[in-house]
Order: sequence, then structure tokens, then C-alpha cells
Amino acid sequence: MKEVFDKIEEIEAFNSLKVFEAFNLNNVSEYHFNYTTGYGYNDVGRDVVESVYSSVFKAEDALVRAQFISGTHAISVTLSAILRPGDVMMYITGKPYDTLDPVIGLREDISSLISYGIFYKQVDLVDSKFDYDKIKNNLIGVKVVCIQRSKGYSNRKSLSISDVSEVIKFIKNINKDVIIFIDNCYCEFVSDKEPVEVGADLVVGSLIKNLGGGIVSSGAYVVGRKNLIHLVANRLNVCGGAKEVGPSFNMNREFLKGLFYAPMAVSNSLKTAVFTSHLLESKGIEVVPKFDEERVDIVQSIIFNDKELLIKYCQGIQNGCMIDSNVLVQPSVIPGYDNEIIMASGSFTQGSSIELSCDGPLREPYIAYQQGGVSYQFAKIGVLKAFEKIEEFL
Ligand SMILES: *Cc1c(COP(=O)(O)O)cnc(C)c1O
Repeated sequence: MKEVFDKIEEIEAFNSLKVFEAFNLNNVSEYHFNYTTGYGYNDVGRDVVESVYSSVFKAEDALVRAQFISGTHAISVTLSAILRPGDVMMYITGKPYDTLDPVIGLREDISSLISYGIFYKQVDLVDSKFDYDKIKNNLIGVKVVCIQRSKGYSNRKSLSISDVSEVIKFIKNINKDVIIFIDNCYCEFVSDKEPVEVGADLVVGSLIKNLGGGIVSSGAYVVGRKNLIHLVANRLNVCGGAKEVGPSFNMNREFLKGLFYAPMAVSNSLKTAVFTSHLLESKGIEVVPKFDEERVDIVQSIIFNDKELLIKYCQGIQNGCMIDSNVLVQPSVIPGYDNEIIMASGSFTQGSSIELSCDGPLREPYIAYQQGGVSYQFAKIGVLKAFEKIEEFL
């Protein structure tokens, strides 16, 4: 794995410099760790956090808030902010992540986007590639094109920056006014470019994933064009207040420290994924990606084709987590998801998946999605515990 690890460390070095330069450019100082309460007027720490995010992403503006519960919430607020009744949105990466079903109205919900008169279209990927003909044929009248880079609970490959770059050029060539929205969850700092650099208008991600670095205890970010960020701030906060309101409580220091740790946390998560992939493939289990394949997110899919193996592996990961290592996790119905899900996540922050975690819906072909590993050495303990649980059945 040495050569693969070397490449991961090169990207880590590149992104560390990117974060350093953003802190330096924005004069991040100790007084930025102060915070506001109540309305949150004149929160210089909050403002510097958002300037740093703009620099890192090379975006015009950013909204980085603890008032966002998670990635799903940020996606929900962002789409609600930019779409109006009668508008058409189109996902070009197939069915979106499961928790977005009720948000969009793919599963009926009284407050879904569809319930407000927004129209939803979807173009599926073909062999994990964009279907250019179908995209072109369906583009008329579309206001927002949505791209989900990471695979979610699907059996496809995740999409690289060059894949995204190509399709954005294609779409903007046909209609430059289409808003390109990117769900960037799990992809930050895996490569040396982020989506705004290749023409995306709005990019969203969770802070209990990559950019929180395992430090941040809640929140999400949205970066992109200034006029669009203003709309998102209006919807999250209040018209009139927009970005000027929203107390940061004690989060400014966490947000900055999390970003400082993020290149390292992502690097360790990638090493954990590579180790897992190598180990399990050598024992005849199907893995995506293979250990030496290009990675564009921190997710390792393990295709068990067997319900019991999936359950046992997740139980093993839980036994190797720092928190609740003696819990025997069971499949269960979880709000926002359709199938029964098994989730191993013994984390310091609830649901944090930059910490070692492994989950999957109980449906064929019984894929475990493993991600995270803030510390490679600790995560390796978890993976080996999981392997012990399934070894005798292989
Ligand atoms: C995790 C994830 C989300 C949702 O993020 P949460 O922070 O868990 O709400 C959305 N999209 C994708 C592709 C994800 O992987």
C-alpha cells in the first residue's frame, strides 16, 4: 500500500497548504474565537470562518453555520431557497441520497419541494457515467441541475472533479443560466480541486464529515455565488437578516480547528479505506474501489452479497469504535430512510462519519459503506475487529 499512501500524503500536503494560505490571507486571530449570542450581530469570528471557507473553495461567498443540523438540512434549505413554485430541478446522477426522498417528495411528505409546486426530473447515470444525450434532451426549462458526487447507498462509482467539470461545461454551453448545485458530501480534500473551481454555482457539505476534521460537533457549509448564498441565508435565517444574523455560540474556534485538522482526517480516512479494500479483496470479497484505484471520496463499498455478513461486519466495526464498543448493533428503521438500515458509529459526535463508521441498507446486494477514520491507527483496530467477525464464514 506504500505507493498509494504516498499519493494520499501528497494531496494532504497540498490541501494543508491551501488551508494555511486561507488562514493567513484572512488574518485569522485569537479574537476570532470569541462568539455572539442572541441575534448574533457583529460576529467577527463567524465572518472570518466564512471568509476562510470562501478562500479554500475559491468561492465568492460562504455560509458556515451550526444552525444547519447536517448535510441533509443544508441541501434542503439550499434547494428551498433557490427554487420557487413552477421551477424545475433535475438530478443528473440518478436517485439522490435516501434522506433527500422526503425533502424532494420522492417519498410523500406534507412539506416536500414537490408539495410546493416544484417539478422534479431525474436522469440516471449509465455505468457510473453521465448520460449526455438525455441531459441535453431534458434541459429545457430546468432551473437547477443537481449533481451528487458521492455514491450514497447506491452501487455506482463516485464522480471525480474532472467528470463534474466536463458535464458543467456541457450544460453551461447549452444554457449558461442553469444553476449547478453540487452535493459534495464525503469528497472534500480527497483531490486537489473543489467544484467551484470547475464552474459549480453552489456546493454543499456536512461538517460532521470531511471538513469538520472530527472536531466539529454540528453544522454544514454552503459555498458559491454571492447572490445565491444570500438567498440561502434568507431561507436559513430570516429575510432582512440573511448572513448578518445567527449567533455562533462557541463554534467559531471549532470550525477553524476542524478545518485545520481536515486534510489530515481525510488522509487518514483514505488510508483506512485503502487498508480495508486491500485486506478484504485478498480474502475474496468484492470491494469498490479496489485499493489502488483512484478515489474521489472517503467511502469504501464492500459488496457482501449476503445479509448475515453485512450485519456481522457492521457489528464488528462497532466493537472496534472508541465509544459504545460493547454495543451489539442491530438493523432498524431510521427516520429519513426507507429500508431497514444497520449503522455502526461509535463516535464522539453523534452520527459523525469522518470518525470510523460503517452502514448499509438491508437490501441486495448487501453493501456495507464504510467511511472515516480520523486516526488511521485507531481505525485499523476497528477494521480488524470487523474482519475477525466475518473471517470464519469466508
Ligand atoms: C451523508 C450524505 C448526505 C447527508 O449528510 P448528513 O450530514 O448525514 O445529513 C447527503 N448526501 C450524501 C451523498 C451523503 O453521503
